[in-house]
Amino acid sequence: MAQSPHDTISTQVQALLTRPEFQTLLESIPDALVIVDEQGHIVLVNHLIEDLFGYSRQELLGKSPEYLLPERFHTLHQHHRQRYLESPVTQPIGIGLELYGRRKDGGEFPVDISLSPLRTQEGLFIISTIRDISERRRLEQLAQASGVLLQAMLDALPSGVYLVQGKQARLVFANRAACEVWGVDWQVGQPFEDFLQAHQIHVLGSDGHELTRDDLATFRALRTGQPISQYQEVVRRPDGTTVPLLFNAVVLPAHLFQPLQSAESEAKGILVVMHDITSLKDSEQLKDEFIGMAAHELRNPLTALKGFVETLLIQSQLGRGMPLTGWQQETLGEIEIATDRLVELTEALLDVTRIQAGRLILSFASYDLVSLVRKVVQRVQEAAPHHGISLQTELESLVVSLDVFRIEQVLLNLLHNAVKYSPARGSITVTLEADQDQNQVVMQVQDHGIGIPAEQQPLLFQRFARAHNVQGITGAGLGLYLCRELVKRHGGRIWFESVEGQGSTFFVALPIASDEDAAPGDLRMQQPETNASMDPPFSYKRAVRESSMQMKTD
Ligand code: ADP
Repeated sequence: MAQSPHDTISTQVQALLTRPEFQTLLESIPDALVIVDEQGHIVLVNHLIEDLFGYSRQELLGKSPEYLLPERFHTLHQHHRQRYLESPVTQPIGIGLELYGRRKDGGEFPVDISLSPLRTQEGLFIISTIRDISERRRLEQLAQASGVLLQAMLDALPSGVYLVQGKQARLVFANRAACEVWGVDWQVGQPFEDFLQAHQIHVLGSDGHELTRDDLATFRALRTGQPISQYQEVVRRPDGTTVPLLFNAVVLPAHLFQPLQSAESEAKGILVVMHDITSLKDSEQLKDEFIGMAAHELRNPLTALKGFVETLLIQSQLGRGMPLTGWQQETLGEIEIATDRLVELTEALLDVTRIQAGRLILSFASYDLVSLVRKVVQRVQEAAPHHGISLQTELESLVVSLDVFRIEQVLLNLLHNAVKYSPARGSITVTLEADQDQNQVVMQVQDHGIGIPAEQQPLLFQRFARAHNVQGITGAGLGLYLCRELVKRHGGRIWFESVEGQGSTFFVALPIASDEDAAPGDLRMQQPETNASMDPPFSYKRAVRESSMQMKTD
């Protein structure tokens, strides 16, 4: 008579295995389950085994567990079982073994098998839980493939891209272009600062000075948690070559990327995109050189033209030569105005190119700022009599170390703008206050003119930037750029507050330097460059003429 599978199990074990509670427990387990006795026979399976492998319970009972595996694993599995049974107490039994299962139809699928011993008086049984991991494998392969695809895509980008995480900005990944920017590889997990120091990489601002850690785009974004947009830095590589870069950075929560296995794995990440702007800088430099050259070439004929017009007017006033008719005098006056404006525009363009090329040198000397402001206000008031310009200050005098010609230029620009952008006239107030706590003096120029649209305010200190509400009012958009650079070169700051349709207030803060600060030998006492010393003084006539022209159109 053929032996029933259960004949191999003692009656006591059989009684246990067939008890309804045990069956319920068995069927409630979420994994497929097989129990094998010491002789290597399957003595029990749950219904998930039937679902997974396609065999009926009867087909499996009494068979060896290898029956459920592809043939290539049989020897390995038998050997493993054998070794375990030789010394069941000391041998590890096996948890999370990743193998392949074989279905009744011959199909294979990946499984995770865990084996646990069950000791009874009847001997040792081995419980195997088998889990189908096809989906997990598929997802892993998918993730691996998308990781490879992502890296390939990032490597194909012309811009450098890197992701850092945690306070120390440890690298999570970097693409090929990023490594080319630095000229060396940055190891995953290495803090940004360590990387820079280890390879002697220096990061400079657009003014050529080395940036501190807090000023680097990456750390700024980390510190503030805010995105960074269009931030310029220059990287000096280990071989000494430099590359100008434009940075954009966004903050990512840790769950959006695969975090580093470190104490900071919960910390947010910063995704940085850096764009090599060498060619942009080169063409900008070419453009500046061209503007500089053109402005320089214009200077001589303009000076001659201006000289001839002035000579004609003066000679005629002195009664020398043929007297000029009214229309002739008027025409010459218009030519003089136009020539003045051309001279001023050429000077502004030359200043811009000097600043861009780092050739604008200031000449510092101690000067009474109060008398300077008073003088400029008076001159502009005479030129623009329909605007009520007043100076409010409690200061009698305040001696400051400054380049008087350049600060006069700043003040004239601001006052000129206040007049120009107040076509309906109105009062203009200049305020001068010493802020001893901050060791600075603050000048304010307030008007009640057309104001500046809020969305354009952040752009106005850039070259050639003009707001959209200035139709019909002439200008080149260079004045504020020059003012900012000049004030910056004095160690000061310029800013404004403005409401469109209500008016604007421009602020200039200058440091109050002591006499020792301005002592000879101080860098700020440099002599003016040769061509700068030949510059004609900045003319306030522009303010006069334009405001009077404006008045004509009122
Ligand atoms: P410009 O006046 O020659 O255009 P600026 O650089 O001096 O050049 O000024 C840039 C722009 O800023 C101006 O075109 C104007 O849109 C705005 N602006 C400057 N000052 C004022 C002001 N006081 N009121 C309103 N808008 C101003």
